[in-house]
Amino acid sequence: MNSNYENFVIVKPSVIHGNGIFITVDIPSGKDIMLIEGEVITEDECIRREEEEGNVYIFWNEDSYIDTEKTEKIKYLNHKCDFNCEVLESENNGLKLTASRDITAGEELTIDYGYDEIYEFCRCSLCA
Ligand SMILES: [Zn+2]
Repeated sequence: MNSNYENFVIVKPSVIHGNGIFITVDIPSGKDIMLIEGEVITEDECIRREEEEGNVYIFWNEDSYIDTEKTEKIKYLNHKCDFNCEVLESENNGLKLTASRDITAGEELTIDYGYDEIYEFCRCSLCA
């Protein structure tokens, strides 16, 4: 990664839900913010942890499943329909958080979780 903003990411209470992660500097659209690190697991194990353990901290795309439950910051990433970040593939089948638009210092970092149930409970201005 040519830029690492992780040191500028802080965890604090969010108006969206519980704690959230916030950025303390401006970030231009398209910049990588931080790697999404944790335990690499299989798709079957992902399904088992979600169903049996209620684990909501697993990030995945078509190739990678990463359980971030024991990772400090990224697990507090909240959903927002008007999101400002996206999860992309990084090197070695990993995942990374990237700015999907220009982000201003102080903003909460958010993604679109992208599964149907989230929109039922979402209280954002797009869903209300
Ligand atoms: Zn919404």
